[in-house]
Amino acid sequence: MSGLFQDDPPPPDAPAPAGPGLFGDAPPTAPTATPYRVLARKYRPSTFESLIGQEAMVRTLRNAFALKRVAHAFMLTGVRGVGKTTTARIIARCLNCIGPDGRGGPTADPCGVCPNCVAILADREPDVQEMDAASRTGVDDVREIIEYTRSRPMNIRTKVFIIDEVHMLTRNAFNALLKTLEEPPPHVSFIFATTELRKVPVTVLSRCQRFDLRRVSATELAAHFGRIAEQESIPIAAEALALIARAADGSVRDGLSLLDQAIAQAEPGAPIAAAMVADMLGLADREAVFDLFEAIMEGKPAAALAITDRAHERGADHGVMLQDLLDLVYTVTRLKAVPALRDSFELPEAERTRGAGFADRLPLAMLGRAWQMLLKGIAEVEQAPDRRAAAEMVLIRLCYVADLPPPGDLVRRLTEGGAATSAGPAPSGGSGGTRAVANGAPAIAAAPAAEAPPALKNFREVAALVAARREATLHAHLVHSVHLVRFAPPVIELRPEPDAPRDLAARLAAVLSEATGTRWTIALATAAGDPTLAEQGDAADAARRSAAAEHPLVRAILAAFPGARIEAVRDGTTDAYGLPPPAAAPPAADGPDLAPPDADYADGPPEDWESSN
Ligand SMILES: [Zn+2]
Repeated sequence: MSGLFQDDPPPPDAPAPAGPGLFGDAPPTAPTATPYRVLARKYRPSTFESLIGQEAMVRTLRNAFALKRVAHAFMLTGVRGVGKTTTARIIARCLNCIGPDGRGGPTADPCGVCPNCVAILADREPDVQEMDAASRTGVDDVREIIEYTRSRPMNIRTKVFIIDEVHMLTRNAFNALLKTLEEPPPHVSFIFATTELRKVPVTVLSRCQRFDLRRVSATELAAHFGRIAEQESIPIAAEALALIARAADGSVRDGLSLLDQAIAQAEPGAPIAAAMVADMLGLADREAVFDLFEAIMEGKPAAALAITDRAHERGADHGVMLQDLLDLVYTVTRLKAVPALRDSFELPEAERTRGAGFADRLPLAMLGRAWQMLLKGIAEVEQAPDRRAAAEMVLIRLCYVADLPPPGDLVRRLTEGGAATSAGPAPSGGSGGTRAVANGAPAIAAAPAAEAPPALKNFREVAALVAARREATLHAHLVHSVHLVRFAPPVIELRPEPDAPRDLAARLAAVLSEATGTRWTIALATAAGDPTLAEQGDAADAARRSAAAEHPLVRAILAAFPGARIEAVRDGTTDAYGLPPPAAAPPAADGPDLAPPDADYADGPPEDWESSN
C-alpha cells in the first residue's frame, strides 16, 4: 500500500507468513520474499466470475450497477476469509474502470486492462486506500480520511476507502465518520468490511448498502482447491481435499493456507495423501474419537477412559476430546436425519462410513441425550479445577446412556446386512415372524453395571415404575406393544409388536437404570411370550364380567330391567392394569408372572360390582 496508511507494513526482511492474513501482512511483491507465492494471493479473484460461493451477493451487486443505483457506502459482512476485501477491491475497480477504450462508466465487469484497473489491481492507485480498523481505531485516523475525502481524485473517478474490521472503530471514530456518510462527496465511496455486523452502529449501517457474503460450502471449497491443485500440478487425493475443505470451515483463505501447508509438507512429486493432511490438521486422533464414541455407546467406561488416557499422553486436551465427541454426535445425528449426506462430499470418509454405521444403530433419543450431556459436560470441564477428573466424570456418565448391542452382535448384524435394525423390531415385521435378531439371540440394550438386585417383582411393576417416571409414551408401549418373554431381574426379555419404537429397549433400560441405580438388560426375543398387559387386562375384565353375569342376583336384575347391561365390574384388588395381584410367591424367572385371568373367580363375583342402564 502506498499513501496514507503506510506505517504498518512488516519490516522488509520479515519471513514470509505461514498463510496469508488480512491485507497488509506482507508486501505483496517484495523481492526478498520466498519465490513461492501463497496460493490465497496468487489465486485471489480479480473478477466477480472468479469469486466462488457468493452468487447471491454478486447478483445483487450486478443489479445495483445495472440500475446505476450504486451506494456511496457498502457494508460487506461475513466470516473471515470468505472474500470481503477481495470483493471490496473488485468493487473499487467496478467504480473506476473506464474500459479498454477509455470511455466506459462504472460497471460490474471491470475490464482489467484500462489504466485504472491495472493501477488498482497492482495496489499502485493512491486514491484507493485500505485501512485495517483493528489497528487504527481512533478518531484521528478517521479525521485523516475525512480530510482526504475533500479533494478530488487525481487519476481515477472515485476515491475508494476500504475499511476492514470496521466494527473495531471507536465510538468517536464512528461519529466522525457518520457526518461524512450523511453527505458523502460525489467522488468518494466507502467500502466497509466486518465479521461482526452487530457491533456496527445502526446509524452507520443505515447509510450503507449491505452485502452478506456467505460461508463457502465444503463441496465448493473442495472443488475450488482441486482446480487450483491441478493448475499448480500438485497431485492430491480427493479425500485430502475434502479434509482441507472441511477444516477451512467456509473460508477460502484458510483453506488455501492449509493447502499451502500441505504442499510444503508433501514430498515433491508425491501425491498428497489424506493421511498426511489428517496428520497435519491434527485429525490423526479422529479414529480415536470414533473409538471413544463406540466405547461410550457400548457402555464401556473402562475402555473409554483407556482411550482418553492414550490420547492425553499424545497431548490431547480433555476438553477438546469432549468437543470432538460433541461434533461427532452432531455429525451422526445429521446422518440419521439426512441419510443423503452419506453420499455427500462434505463429509470425510470416516464420517460417511463409520458415522453412518452409528447413525443406523443409535436411536435419535440417545443421540439427543448424549448431546445434552456433552454440552453440559464441556462447560463443567471448563470450570473444573481438575479438567481430567471432570472429563472422566462426564465420560462415565455418558456410558450410562449406552445403547449398542454387544460388539459380536453388532458385527453379526452388520455382516448379515440387516444393518438398519437396532434394539427394536424390524421396520416391517409382518405377522411378527421377522425380528431384529434373526438367529434368536437377543439384542441387548444395556446400561453399565452396579450390582444390587432390583426391587421390581414383575413386569407390571416395571410398567408402573415407568408411568411414575412420567414416561407416558414408553409406558403406553409397554402396556400395548410388548410381550413379556422372560422376567429375570435385572434381565427382561420382550417380544415387541411391529409398532413398538425401535429404541424401546434402550429407553426402558435407561429409565430402569436411572430409577433403580442398577444395570438392567432389556433383550428382544422371538418367543411368543405373554399377552400384552393390555390384553391381559382385557381378558381379566372379560372374566370378571362373565363371572358377574353368572351371579344369581345380577341375572335377576338383568331380567327385571330390560336393556340393563353390565357397564363395569370394579375389583378393589386389581392394579392399574386391571389385573389381580400376582400370586403370593414371586413368579419364577421363566414362568408367567400372572395367574390365569379367571382363576380368582371360580366361586362367585368380585366384592364390588355394579350394573347400570
Ligand atoms: Zn478497467
